[in-house]
Amino acid sequence: MQAYVEKQKCTGCAHCFDVCPVAVFEMKSRSSPDANNDVAPDKDKWTGAVDPAVKAKWENVQDGHKHFAENYDKSGGLSVAVNGPSCILCQACLVECEGECIVITDDSNNVYKSIYK
Ligand code: SF4
Ligand code: SF4
Repeated sequence: MQAYVEKQKCTGCAHCFDVCPVAVFEMKSRSSPDANNDVAPDKDKWTGAVDPAVKAKWENVQDGHKHFAENYDKSGGLSVAVNGPSCILCQACLVECEGECIVITDDSNNVYKSIYK
């Protein structure tokens, strides 16, 4: 199993970090050198730019989560799928991801993408 986050779309809501039963995700500061410490392809790596459509959708939503904040403090920062091989494909993160930016590939190369419920 492999997993990564399309970094430009990550709001930092931390839902993935909160729900994953096997600790696939860690929350990192957006300026952290570890912000790209998963298997995201180059086009999906964090370069400092937020996807404009995701930002427009979430930046003013008041739901108790910090959106696009630099640092994690219960939410905020950026999610990094540091432990993708441990994924058991429970799909909990896939329905909770605000940015619809989690990509999981199983051992048969089936690809699963998050869709916000
Ligand atoms: S699908 Fe995988 S990465 Fe997502 S919550 Fe379940 S175990 Fe964690
Ligand atoms: S659930 Fe999605 S948008 Fe929220 S922190 Fe995780 S990867 Fe980012």
